[in-house]
Amino acid sequence: MNGKPARRKVLTMLAGAGGSLWLPRHAPAAQPDPRVAQIVAGMIAVDMHNHLTIATKDMAASAALPDIDLVAHLTRSGFTAICQTYSLDGADNPNATDFYPRWLRALAFQDALLARNHMRRALSVADLQAAHARNEPIIVQTVEGALFLESRLERLEEAYTRGLRNLQLIHDHDAAVRMGDSTTGVDHHKGLTPFGRQVLTECDRLGILVDLAHCTFPTVSAALKAVSRPPIVSHAGMTIDFGGRPPPTGWDKVLLTAEQARAIAEAGGVIGVWYRLFDTFRDYVAAIRARVDAIGIDHVGIGTDSDMTASFILPYSNQIWADQNGGLLHALVAEMLRQGFTPEEVAKICGGNYCRVFAQATAGRTS
Ligand SMILES: [Zn+2]
Repeated sequence: MNGKPARRKVLTMLAGAGGSLWLPRHAPAAQPDPRVAQIVAGMIAVDMHNHLTIATKDMAASAALPDIDLVAHLTRSGFTAICQTYSLDGADNPNATDFYPRWLRALAFQDALLARNHMRRALSVADLQAAHARNEPIIVQTVEGALFLESRLERLEEAYTRGLRNLQLIHDHDAAVRMGDSTTGVDHHKGLTPFGRQVLTECDRLGILVDLAHCTFPTVSAALKAVSRPPIVSHAGMTIDFGGRPPPTGWDKVLLTAEQARAIAEAGGVIGVWYRLFDTFRDYVAAIRARVDAIGIDHVGIGTDSDMTASFILPYSNQIWADQNGGLLHALVAEMLRQGFTPEEVAKICGGNYCRVFAQATAGRTS
C-alpha cells in the first residue's frame, strides 16, 4: 500500500492537468481468445505484490480466523502464486510502534490461514514449479517494510525460518527503524543507512529476495551496489505511465524515471506495474508496453498492490477495474494478446521474470 493519493484522486489531478485518459476506447472482444486458457495453464504466474489487508484486531490471537477461501480466489485469478505481504505500519494503525509483535501476529495469522486452505509458502523456485505442476496455488511470504527488525538483525534469520523469502526493506514510515529513505517520508539519510546495508547483506547470505519498492532513488542506487543478486521493485509507478502527459505535481519522488528504471534493469532487476495509476485495465496493459519499450522485456513484472481476499481497503484482485473481464491473470493475458504481446512475452512479464530473480536470490545460503 501507499500513503499517496488513491487512483481516483490521481485521476482528478489528471483531469485537471488536461483531460481524459490517453487511449481510445474500444468494445470488448465478442469471443474470448482461445489461446488465453492455454497460456494461463502453461506458465508460472506471480503477482509480486498482493496484500491481505486484515485489520489488526482480526489478527489478535483471540480473534476467530476469518473464513477466507484463498485457494478459490487464487484459482479464479489464474495466478500460481502471489507475494503475500503485510504492512506493519498499515492504514489501520499509522502510528504503530509495536512492529515486532505485529509481525509475529501476522505470521501466526498467515500460518493459520494457510493451514485452513491446505497451502504452504514457496521457499524456492522448485516450490513454485511444483505448485504449478500440481495446479495448487502457493504464496511467497513477504512483508512491506522490515520494521519488525528494529535494530535486531538476528530477527531476519528468524523470519527466514518462518518462511520469509521476499523482503521489502522500506514502507511509508522510515523514522522508527532507520534503514533508508521512503518516497513518502522525509529524506533523513540521503540513501541507505549502515543498518539498511547490513540487512541487505544478510538477505544475500540467507537467500531472501530484496524488494526496493518505496525507496527513494538514492536509497535504491546505494542498495544496487550493496546486493550481489538482482532485486525487485515490486510495485512502482513510472513517469512514463501517463502516456506522454506530465505526471501529477508532487509525484516526482514516488515515480521512477526511465533512466532510474534502466539502472534497476541493468542490475538484472524486475519492476512491477502498480494498479494505482490507471483507471482502466486497458491503460494498465498499455503501461506494461511502455515499460517494456523503456527497459526491456526481461525487467517488467506484475505487482498490482491489490487484495486477493477482498477483505477491506484495497480493490479485489479479480475485479480491480470495471473493464477487467474475469480473474486477474485470465483478463491480463487476454488484454496483453489484444495489445500485441506474444505468448512468450506474456509468460516473462506475468511470472517468468520473477521466477528468474527469485531463483537467483534463494539459490542456496552462502553460509
Ligand atoms: Zn506499497
